[in-house]
Amino acid sequence: MKKNLETLCIHGGWKPTKGEPQQLPIYQSTTFKYDTSEQMARLFDLKDDGYFYTRLANPTNDAVARKIAALEGGVGCVLTSSGQAASFYAVFNICEAGDHFISMNTIYGGTYNLFGVTLKKLGIECTFVDPDWDDERIEACFRPNTKCVFGESISNPGGNILDFERFARMAHSHGVPFIVDNTFPTPINCRPFEWGADIVTHSTTKYMDGHACQVGGAVVDSGNFDWDAQADKFPGLTTPDESYHGLTYTKAFGKMAYCTKLVSQLMRDLGSIPSPQNAFLLNLGLETLHLRMARHCENAQRVAEWLQGRPEVAWVNYAGLPGNKYYELARKYMPGGTCGVIAFGLKGSRQDAIRFMDNLDFISIVTHVADARTCVLHPASHTHRQLSDEQLIEAGVAPDLIRLSVGIENVDDIIADLEHAMQKM
Ligand code: PLP
Repeated sequence: MKKNLETLCIHGGWKPTKGEPQQLPIYQSTTFKYDTSEQMARLFDLKDDGYFYTRLANPTNDAVARKIAALEGGVGCVLTSSGQAASFYAVFNICEAGDHFISMNTIYGGTYNLFGVTLKKLGIECTFVDPDWDDERIEACFRPNTKCVFGESISNPGGNILDFERFARMAHSHGVPFIVDNTFPTPINCRPFEWGADIVTHSTTKYMDGHACQVGGAVVDSGNFDWDAQADKFPGLTTPDESYHGLTYTKAFGKMAYCTKLVSQLMRDLGSIPSPQNAFLLNLGLETLHLRMARHCENAQRVAEWLQGRPEVAWVNYAGLPGNKYYELARKYMPGGTCGVIAFGLKGSRQDAIRFMDNLDFISIVTHVADARTCVLHPASHTHRQLSDEQLIEAGVAPDLIRLSVGIENVDDIIADLEHAMQKM
């Protein structure tokens, strides 16, 4: 029976039968026991399904992965130990030394560094493009060895909304998949697969968890990209893998080829699985995701409108504000709301921004974002401090930008805290 998102948040992934626990059990076990050596051998020969070692698969992790796959409308999902690991695996699963890919330059600073510095050391080159460039300029960045296009649904911290259909069209016309980090809107507010994305990644550390109690990530495959139609570009998926029984992933696993390769090669060799305890905590967060996202958006809309009317405020960027550069794209791709994250700048110096943040009461200064608690951060001094001024501006991060992540407290209290801090500046 087809279920709506709200029902999937609660029931997706885990369906207890007679006498089983109503709540998803935590299988906090490294390994799984068999009675005979033959039983174990059949697992290794892929003749039987079953669990043997948690780095490769674990029942708690699998149930949560199934829930996220269902929420995104994908065929499969792999949980990772962080959002960074998810971004890395999503790209590294189809790129190797000598390959190239394209990413929006507006992405989260940690991902920017991963793509521009660490992947470069592995021989994979990334060209960063400004999503505002015209098609011709972006098309010119594709090369014969380009393997994918990457962007964030809502960029962190700039709040840019990705034009999914435009970038899916460009990626597909060059025979490569379009990968989208859907962390900020979550599948409650945005379903990238419905707009042409092929693979979705998440930092589940953010709204999906929502309570700041675990770090995690996820990679979800739509199953829509035809790897065999581009067999020469993706030999890792379309030719035999000698390290895995000589299987060819697309032939042996069909639509599950991408996820199976990610687990059987990358998890096997590099690790980065979440602990089952963390997957359990993430699942608790997912049970209320639909309720929390609605309140985050409602509160953020009120706060953004209030900020716009304040004399101390120089500018506000929130896609829910009519007249915002991304208002129309947000209405098209995220008609139910975007997220709770607002970017704004205060009039005055960089020191004024710092003084304002130090004056806040329950709104906390943390590196984290997208949490039940309202929090604030100055990316130029915190998350993005590894970027030069030039890179900051290129990434759409103004030096005075304050990132306000509006939580689900009473909105009048949030506004009162902001007002008090501004008055004391
Ligand atoms: N993607 C986005 C949009 C993020 O905001 C972040 C972290 O802030 C990440 C990925 C990385 O996730 P994690 O911190 O879980 O490794």
